[in-house]
Amino acid sequence: MNNNFTNKNIESLKVGSFDWRVIQDQMKNKLGLEVYESWLKKINFEEEFNNYIILNVPTRFIRDWITSRYLDQILQIVKTYKKDIIRIEFRIADQKITVEKNKKDIHHSVENKENISFIKDSYLQYNRIDPNKRLDNFLTGSSNKLAYEASVKVSENISHYNPLYIYGGVGLGKTHLLNGIGLELKKNNKVMFISAERFMYQFVKSIKSNDMVKFKEYFRNTDILLIDDIQFMNGKEAMQEEFFHTFNALLDKGSQIIVSADRAPNKLSRIQERIKSRFSGGLVVDIQKPDIELRKKIVEQKTNELNKLYSEQINISREIQDYISSEINTSIRELVGAINRVVSFSRIYNKIPNLAETKVVLKDLLNLAENKVTIDLIQTLVCKFFKISKNEMLSSRRSRYLVRPRQTAIYLTKILTSKSLPEIGREFSNRDHTTIIHSVKTIEKLKDKDPEMLENINKLKNQILYNNKDNEI
Ligand code: ADP
Ligand code: MG
Repeated sequence: MNNNFTNKNIESLKVGSFDWRVIQDQMKNKLGLEVYESWLKKINFEEEFNNYIILNVPTRFIRDWITSRYLDQILQIVKTYKKDIIRIEFRIADQKITVEKNKKDIHHSVENKENISFIKDSYLQYNRIDPNKRLDNFLTGSSNKLAYEASVKVSENISHYNPLYIYGGVGLGKTHLLNGIGLELKKNNKVMFISAERFMYQFVKSIKSNDMVKFKEYFRNTDILLIDDIQFMNGKEAMQEEFFHTFNALLDKGSQIIVSADRAPNKLSRIQERIKSRFSGGLVVDIQKPDIELRKKIVEQKTNELNKLYSEQINISREIQDYISSEINTSIRELVGAINRVVSFSRIYNKIPNLAETKVVLKDLLNLAENKVTIDLIQTLVCKFFKISKNEMLSSRRSRYLVRPRQTAIYLTKILTSKSLPEIGREFSNRDHTTIIHSVKTIEKLKDKDPEMLENINKLKNQILYNNKDNEI
């Protein structure tokens, strides 16, 4: 085991590659020492590919246990180091083979030639309430006080805010609040916590399998409906129709509805007016970016929380804490991520990084916070790289020399921003989301078999993330 805190070690933390020990350490933090010792420790890292990794476990039983309980969280942790990873596959050390298309198939798995199982990216959270995101560990400042207070009232069942609509930018605590409300109300009520994307997925699936009756019953029977990221609901008249009716039926019978979004109700595109107006009919509160006081409180709390987990204390200096709270100022998620990283590194290399080392460890987070990656930046840099004009890129012309750059820009937008497929489509001259999926898949395939393509993608990624023209990662 290498205990030297060398630059090379730190380098391994940059976007695009990761150190399995760091992931293990984060699993310990996130899922607890007991779970880690009993299960997760048994996972070995095997291989990394462009968008998936292969892990190795000793037995099928352990694999099933892990996939059914912890895989989503493991995937989330892995993604913080390498965004492109969308699934995790397992190989069982010395055993025959199973292939699992997704979690639900675990109990009737298919025998197959390769000793691999996998689960698709299930960022679509589905009624899974996280016991760690509670109202009592939600820190408040002027930026989120109103949203917090409204959430507390709703969770005490004493509010007449119905629906409660919470909005704000990425990583500012919306899901945490919804989750916290869910935890409280779950004690005495039937709670349904679902992302809007999952709602759509479930809806389409029910239509295909002729199960609409069940779908309706399912949603209309709940006492509390929490819908996360409503901005991702779009289009599909029939679905909006269903949503609207569900929504009204629930309000009529006195069920509480809580909605989160990244923007105010009137700014939602692609959602019917009457739904927006129902959203506005309750209480609408926003969460702003955290000010320096709140950021400091969060850094402090998070550091203490992590210290409680272990016997040896890690004293991240005040200087570094202050540096982190002053530099990472756009999202609480990144702030928490930064602390996690510094603590993990200190534990693994037995050394608390100094300021210069901290900067290296956090390089990508700092850059991302400074210059957010926009579609415009991606389009500009890709056009420049391939020497075409933006008009050409956005045109409907299908000459070969335009198609690849266009697909490349679309692919990069998908992996480097959090835009949904329809949103990306709109930014590329209103292309359909199926075209977007096709572009992403095409580039993924090419990247795996064409080294030049891979190199171009890496150069561009580097330019976009670091605004770095000399292509060194
Ligand atoms: P959003 O849903 O708005 O994108 P999340 O709720 O997922 O953001 O928050 C991102 C991370 O920051 C989570 O780990 C969450 O627990 C943490 N977090 C956000 N706001 C707070 C807060 N006020 N106090 C403590 N932790 C917070
Ligand atoms: Mg969220």
